Amino acid sequence: MTPTTDDASAPLVRDHGGGVHSLRVPIPDNPLGHTLVHLLDTGRGPVLVDTGWDDPTAWDTLSAGLAACGTSVAEIHGVVITHHHPDHHGLSGRVREASGAWIAMHAADATVVRRTREAEPRLWLDYLAGKLERAGAPEAHIAPLRAARAAGGSGGLPGLRPALPDREIVPGELLDLAGRRLRAVWTPGHTPGHVCLHLEETHPAGRTGNGRLFSGDHLLPGITPHIGLYEDPDDTTMTDPLGDYLDSLERVGRLAPAEVLPAHQHSFTGAAERVRELLAHHEQRLAGLLALLAEPLTPWQVAERMEWNRPWEQIPYGSRTIAVSEAESHLRRLVKLGRAEVTAGGEPARYVAV
Ligand SMILES: [Zn+2]
Ligand SMILES: [Zn+2]
Repeated sequence: MTPTTDDASAPLVRDHGGGVHSLRVPIPDNPLGHTLVHLLDTGRGPVLVDTGWDDPTAWDTLSAGLAACGTSVAEIHGVVITHHHPDHHGLSGRVREASGAWIAMHAADATVVRRTREAEPRLWLDYLAGKLERAGAPEAHIAPLRAARAAGGSGGLPGLRPALPDREIVPGELLDLAGRRLRAVWTPGHTPGHVCLHLEETHPAGRTGNGRLFSGDHLLPGITPHIGLYEDPDDTTMTDPLGDYLDSLERVGRLAPAEVLPAHQHSFTGAAERVRELLAHHEQRLAGLLALLAEPLTPWQVAERMEWNRPWEQIPYGSRTIAVSEAESHLRRLVKLGRAEVTAGGEPARYVAV
């Protein structure tokens, strides 16, 4: 995800009307700044859409925000998670402990959570090192992973014990919320089980359009979400996360919500227009990539040559790994479209335009 200038002067809590509030929960040491956690009143108590990063400051902010809304963590009835990332799902376990709330998530992201909890760090480091090697990463980039592996593979992996959800979000179905119509819309791409949640109720300020959409990281007003690979060591199928993402964008564009309530930045109108912008952005990115592929390149070489928010030399280690994953998702898309292919001749893989 591209960093953004977060609006530091925005209030902690915003009343969006019709029993919906947003709470700005800080993400420590992250240019994204905040997660917008949403609070939805229901007939059986308040429900959270996402919870925020597992950090003491975030927890205190969440608690203060709930108090400002006239409720408390103990009163939370349920937690609906848009996707498994730690800035969304991090505090879910603590909220459940304090309140007895249920936690709902799409099955594909629940699988990621289960895998993360059970991950044997050494196997995970092996998987990452192998993947980077096949992508043509230089030895200097892979060496720290091998060193961690040799040291026993302990520690260093964040969010190893995210909470297991106890309810499944089923695409297309209404969630079981007393007095509210909240329908799950499966929007894979950013993660395999990302969901948007469509509040199928008249807009409280009478804006035209179909209700409101909690869009998670799928649709944001000023930044594009990271689209990488799904990173499943056990799955050898050639998934196409960018293709999934573009399909998911069209899906939410067709909903034509009157207002979008995203998990970062700020709420906005004009969903269909934002969808068109993002589709054009990725089309442009793919065209730029195709031009690079006049000569065969490894995913690492492609990442080095792609446009990022700063020069490649200034991109830190961890972000380079993420950038390569993003380059690979775009390369796979081009292959699926029949516009590029993998050259014969082993590893690392090289892609060329056709
Ligand atoms: Zn995310
Ligand atoms: Zn996020």
